Amino acid sequence: MKPLGAGTLLKAETSPFGVAMTVPQCIQYCLDRNGVKVVIVGCHSPQEVLEAVKHQQLDEKEKSYAHIFAAGTAISMTGKCMYCNHCQPCPAHLDIAAITKFLDLAAQQETVPDTVMEHYWSLSATAEDCLMCGRCEPNCPFGVNIRENMKKAREMFKR
Ligand code: SF4
Ligand code: SF4
Repeated sequence: MKPLGAGTLLKAETSPFGVAMTVPQCIQYCLDRNGVKVVIVGCHSPQEVLEAVKHQQLDEKEKSYAHIFAAGTAISMTGKCMYCNHCQPCPAHLDIAAITKFLDLAAQQETVPDTVMEHYWSLSATAEDCLMCGRCEPNCPFGVNIRENMKKAREMFKR
């Protein structure tokens, strides 16, 4: 699941490789992992669906991602949320992974999609409930600035 990294891998400015990958490259990377037989692609647009389907028609070279890795671009996952929820427990009962995922999804779009807005506001606790206590941050293995993300979520999902 999540071969496109919520769309972050498709843009140079958000990809940890500093280079935009294609949808077929992302799929191929997952299929090349040991034991992976099926990749479930979450698409944002019809174009991404078409690109995912195209994976089947491309030759090995066209879906290879090796040159991106071989370029030696520094890979940094620091500060990027992996939605793992290792930052729990939160005294305000925020589902930090879910809030951050909705924030990242919304940030990929020009305007916040209605579905994302709806999912965000259906959470039992939102960024509005964050106490800004910072207790979660030392628990995050990826050094995510969670309080900053909660501030961004408040702004992003303002009604
Ligand atoms: S903030 Fe850190 S620990 Fe929490 S979900 Fe994101 S990556 Fe995982
Ligand atoms: S800073 Fe916010 S999200 Fe983190 S533990 Fe405190 S209340 Fe929860």
